[in-house]
Amino acid sequence: MTFAQALKCRECGREYELKPIFSCEFCFGPLEVAYDYDGIRGAMTRDSIERGPTSLWRYAELLPCDPQYKVDLGTGYTPLIKADRLAKAIGLDTLWIKNDTVNPTWSFKDRVVSVAIAKAREFGFQAMACASTGNLANSVAAHAAGAGMDCYVFIPDDLEQGKVVGSAIYDPTLVMVRGSYDDVNRLCTELSMSRPWAFVNINVRPYYAEGSRTLGYEIAEQLGWRAPDHIVAPMASGSMYTKIWKGLQEFHKVGLIDAPKTRMSGAQAEGCSPITTAYEKHTLNFVPQKPNTIARSLAIGNPADGYYALKQMEETNGGAEMVNDDEIVQGIKLLAETEGIFAETAGGVTIGCLKKLVASGFIRRDEETVAIISGGGLKTVEAVADKVTEPLRVPANASAFDEALSQRQGVLAGARA
Ligand SMILES: *Cc1c(COP(=O)(O)O)cnc(C)c1O
Ligand SMILES: [Zn+2]
Repeated sequence: MTFAQALKCRECGREYELKPIFSCEFCFGPLEVAYDYDGIRGAMTRDSIERGPTSLWRYAELLPCDPQYKVDLGTGYTPLIKADRLAKAIGLDTLWIKNDTVNPTWSFKDRVVSVAIAKAREFGFQAMACASTGNLANSVAAHAAGAGMDCYVFIPDDLEQGKVVGSAIYDPTLVMVRGSYDDVNRLCTELSMSRPWAFVNINVRPYYAEGSRTLGYEIAEQLGWRAPDHIVAPMASGSMYTKIWKGLQEFHKVGLIDAPKTRMSGAQAEGCSPITTAYEKHTLNFVPQKPNTIARSLAIGNPADGYYALKQMEETNGGAEMVNDDEIVQGIKLLAETEGIFAETAGGVTIGCLKKLVASGFIRRDEETVAIISGGGLKTVEAVADKVTEPLRVPANASAFDEALSQRQGVLAGARA
């Protein structure tokens, strides 16, 4: 049972049956799922949601797949944490961290894969596949293992070890492609035309993309059924950034919250910033880039939803920012040291950009803000391994420890003086 009715072209509005297709035959526009919102409004209340499972399946009526096909590793309903110490450090009155590092494979990609694999199984696919910057591969491999399905994941050959092993452990066919993500994506698009596999972000992309709306639903529910003033989200293809806003608008459409007035801002790394660069040039037409950044998970030089992300910045009076590699590391450390949350490089991008947006006055101090932390730090240890304070190394006796500690404190005192 699903309230999804059709696939609809985002450009010309033509409708298609719910099938594993992703672009319009007439104008090549991307297809998006259309729903029976009146039906959803009648089937879903605040009470019914609150009684549901503590995972993204609590919003099953709004998902485009039949929950009987789900592969449930426990994705979603992640903590929304009031970040008072970080707020103070950067100059905001109220800041929340949406902590998506705690998903089953430690990134928000478990949301999109949960929906994509359920739909793929409903369609009768026997094998899952994807083109990935790392996190998607981890999540597809885990969910395919959980379903006992064949799995083919394609990644660039220069990824962090945590992301490579984080896929290999589930024993998919793991393919490291010499080239960038955009090369990987081109190869997979070609393969998807002749292989009977569900490529989650190609032939079942319209369903996959819908999974990110659950971030918007959860934020609204966890704030007590209302939308925040501002959200800052990282952007790779730009899909998650656009779907959070779609989620907030849908919650209003089905009567669960007041009309959202949230300003949506996007975060990118300077070394891969096609969307932010276009925003700064006041154009909706981005120029593809060749990525060079430690934020590998965001290194998509030719973003599929870049145009829609730029339109959304206009529509919501939001903005876009970018940070360099050093600022990414500082962002990771600031979040860890103030809030106890260890994010991967994409989280460093989000916190670094948030800090800049507040410092420039683009986000006002009194705007209640939510920052999306989309992946866990143990996958990108390389980025910070030599940027943290050296441990004290001591033999196992108390006086040696005391000496080492006072030496360290002396050094610190000296540095302060
Ligand atoms: C994939 C990814 C994103 C952004 O994804 P979109 O393609 O923009 O939807 C953000 N953070 C992390 C950690 C990711 O893996
Ligand atoms: Zn069309």
